[in-house]
Amino acid sequence: MSDDRKSMTTEYLLEKQKNIATKLESDEHGTTLEPMYYGNADCFNIKLARCDTCQGDARTVAMDDRGKIRWFTYCMGCNKATMNNRKQSWLSIFDWASMNLNSLDYKDLPFFKLKNLNHEDAKIEMTDIKNKIELKRKSLGIKNKFEPSRCLEKQLAVATAMVLWACLAMKLIRNAARNINRRKDEPAIKQG
Ligand SMILES: [Zn+2]
Repeated sequence: MSDDRKSMTTEYLLEKQKNIATKLESDEHGTTLEPMYYGNADCFNIKLARCDTCQGDARTVAMDDRGKIRWFTYCMGCNKATMNNRKQSWLSIFDWASMNLNSLDYKDLPFFKLKNLNHEDAKIEMTDIKNKIELKRKSLGIKNKFEPSRCLEKQLAVATAMVLWACLAMKLIRNAARNINRRKDEPAIKQG
């Protein structure tokens, strides 16, 4: 890359970083994004969902994949299993959650404080939170390019995980809405 190109890229990234920082700061929650939304839960160690096919317990296990440790999750009742072998156990827990939406409720997620919201309000709130976390992740990514550090890397890993959990929350909210609409469409059961 020529020096001109390089400085243009640097300028571009710095400008982008500035815009993101402004956006985050202009928001009332900007500077306190982590405690507000992440809570005290460990985003790399979330409880495994039950299997939504047989209600069985699931388990995340490590296996040796040609000398490398990889993780996958399966149901001990019906052997339903995640498709991908993951480098990190929490990613397998995430995969498993994504394929067992019916045994999860967005209100029970240890993040995002959605407990008291109906699905319509939760969708609005979560769209906003997801946008902010994505901005935060971008901002950390750019910062880490300029001054890489262990601390930034750790923050970046947390933000990246939180983006995925935010995507899951959105899926769960959509699923809750679908289930409610389905129930509405079912003929009423005659009483008596
Ligand atoms: Zn099962």
